[in-house]
Amino acid sequence: MKDVLTTCVYCGCGCGVYLHEENGRVISSAPSKKHPVSRNNLCVKGWHLHDFIHHPDRLTQPLMRKNGKLVPVDWDEAFAFTASELARIRQERSGDAVGFLASAKCTNEENYLFQKFARAVLGTNNIDHCARL
Ligand code: SF4
Repeated sequence: MKDVLTTCVYCGCGCGVYLHEENGRVISSAPSKKHPVSRNNLCVKGWHLHDFIHHPDRLTQPLMRKNGKLVPVDWDEAFAFTASELARIRQERSGDAVGFLASAKCTNEENYLFQKFARAVLGTNNIDHCARL
């Protein structure tokens, strides 16, 4: 078994967590005793941090709805479609016809870029964060 110290991805607290790996699979999570933020504590999400890693329902590529069904597509197709739809909506109805929801799983820098994209590129203040849901 190998222990890997990392940071919990579920919220912005940034708790220190050990992921336990065995035979190439992550099998459990545990708090880091010396971590300055969490100090040997994790909330229930941190204790279950490992659950999604090998879960069969985990999304590992984009899905697009085609003919009423969600089908896997590659990232280039997903990005191209998203970009063209955002441009079309902004042109036809204004940026305020779009809303953005940022994620606690992103870094501060990614969330900063996301709000810049919403405000400066799409021209809308319709931006919020999942921590307020
Ligand atoms: S263990 Fe809980 S409080 Fe700590 S970073 Fe993860 S989700 Fe946030």
